[in-house]
Amino acid sequence: MSDQPYFAPTDIGPPDYQQFLHPLIKKNYGKWKYHEILKPGVMVHVSETGDKLYTVRQGSPRLLSTVTIREYADIAEKYCGGHLRFTSRHNVEYFLDDPAKIDPLIADLKKRGFPVGGMGNAITSIVHTQGWVHCHTPATDASGPVKAVMDELFEYFAEMKLPGKLRIALACCLNMCGAVHCSDIAILGIHRKPPKVLGDVVSKSCELPNVVAACPTFAIKPNPKEKTLSINEDRCMYCGNCYTMCPGLPLADADGDGISLWVGGKVSNARSGPAFSKLAVPFLPNNPPRWPETVAAIKKIVETYAKGAKPYERLGEWIERIGWESFFKQTGIEFTEQHIDDFKLAQKSFRSTTQFRW
Ligand code: SF4
Ligand code: SF4
Repeated sequence: MSDQPYFAPTDIGPPDYQQFLHPLIKKNYGKWKYHEILKPGVMVHVSETGDKLYTVRQGSPRLLSTVTIREYADIAEKYCGGHLRFTSRHNVEYFLDDPAKIDPLIADLKKRGFPVGGMGNAITSIVHTQGWVHCHTPATDASGPVKAVMDELFEYFAEMKLPGKLRIALACCLNMCGAVHCSDIAILGIHRKPPKVLGDVVSKSCELPNVVAACPTFAIKPNPKEKTLSINEDRCMYCGNCYTMCPGLPLADADGDGISLWVGGKVSNARSGPAFSKLAVPFLPNNPPRWPETVAAIKKIVETYAKGAKPYERLGEWIERIGWESFFKQTGIEFTEQHIDDFKLAQKSFRSTTQFRW
């Protein structure tokens, strides 16, 4: 009988990933002893059996053409027996069992214009959502600001010169497909105006009870007589749920839409527990194609953190240590009324001591 695991045939979901594991990963499953970063973008995993698996990490633009994906596959065929994986932050990782192949692979990637890095105390690829390319409720673009920010911060991707890991994420609306709440720096698209009610479209194409039920703040009132709706603007939090249900309630607005920046989130349990990000900059305008205001604000936060944090300290840990007052002072970000949380359960997060750190 074969010692390969048996996979029952199924037509539900994707095929079992174990079929595609690199042979060394399959052989050493559950036996990995430790891993270490050898240089920017290169890592080794060492097994109890003595096997070593080398990983070379390359950044990707996330929105990929089939031409690029085929190129990745060709590279994996040439160096890795056809094995690669995508990380959750859209990097591509090539697996090597022979360390002699590391430098030729890196040279090949560089020749093709694919950046190597994003590992350890660095900025890794920015995870982002769909933006203007695809989704119907974005308050900003996704790929555009991410490209502009990463172009400016590329040195922090290619080298490991930050105090700790720095994860940046973008979600183009507060539905947050991008899970920005748990990244060191979050770029979050926000709407600032309620939906417009296009009565004609609403009456022809929307089911009023569904639209009313979709609003989390009960801001929508039906008008059954005229088969339309009205919106209580004071109650609206500009979430866009109603527009998902009804094309007659668009909320995109050139002046109202823009970007907010949040800082200090993380998933890791190292040193301190996982944390949600908190508001740093309430609003920056959409300014395509290069989003200069957003890029400048993020660069300032990164450089201030790089200068002031202790080794391995994450952005949120650094802010907690120096105090939020000091964070605003050092980064030059203005503290505004929007920074004061007025959510009814916000009390729990309020500072309740007299320990202010200036
Ligand atoms: S974050 Fe919002 S706008 Fe962006 S892709 Fe997700 S739902 Fe759409
Ligand atoms: S945008 Fe959100 S809060 Fe405002 S009316 Fe629509 S569903 Fe309600």
